[in-house]
Amino acid sequence: MAPPGQDPFVYALSSNSAWAGYKGHQNPDFFSRLTSGQAPDILWLGCSDSRCPETTILGLQPGDVFVHRNIANIISPTDINTAAVIEYAVVQLRVKHVVLCGHTVCGGPTAVLGDASVGGVLDIWLTPMRALRDAHAEELDSISSEDKQRAVNRLAELNVEAGVRVLMANAAIREAVRDRGLQVHGTLFDMATGRVRDLGLGTAKMDKGRGAVPEVGGVVRGRHAQLVFGGDGAAGMRAF
Ligand SMILES: [Zn+2]
Repeated sequence: MAPPGQDPFVYALSSNSAWAGYKGHQNPDFFSRLTSGQAPDILWLGCSDSRCPETTILGLQPGDVFVHRNIANIISPTDINTAAVIEYAVVQLRVKHVVLCGHTVCGGPTAVLGDASVGGVLDIWLTPMRALRDAHAEELDSISSEDKQRAVNRLAELNVEAGVRVLMANAAIREAVRDRGLQVHGTLFDMATGRVRDLGLGTAKMDKGRGAVPEVGGVVRGRHAQLVFGGDGAAGMRAF
């Protein structure tokens, strides 16, 4: 964040200049390698929230993650923006993992559970989440009566579950799962701890449903860290 009295944009540009200088010094090939093309292993679908920038929270680097983020990480099958990103990442870039990630204390589920109109296009965008809230009203009401924040986080989880169902029905994803073992994951970023939790959805759930042994060690290598999806449903980082 810009120091008090300093213009945030000017500060961001000077911060970028310092970062570019540092990266170039640390690894003289860093930027020339970026210009030669991309081969990310992960497609990340997440919330636009400023507090969950995927590459930063995964400890990865530019070139490691292909990204689409929107308000409250809602996956609508008819949203051409999301569909285009998925198609490019899965069909052209041939990513190995599709990760849908919600997060705790998200503004979308907070607004929906509060039942307040947020106005304009946002009310339309949040409609699938309102339907989800209504479908799980009993569970969410009982949690909410004890702990409102926990109900918000539960709705965020249900939203990831619904999103993963849409992803698993997407034609490009279905084909890649069948033909080359593309993995689809549903996760939740816990803002309070910085950890990304694997909810065991998507292809992991599909494997379990078929009685297959859960795969251990779907490993995505970054240049300075690994994101490891374990068979116990946990996602963890290994530095190397
Ligand atoms: Zn959010």
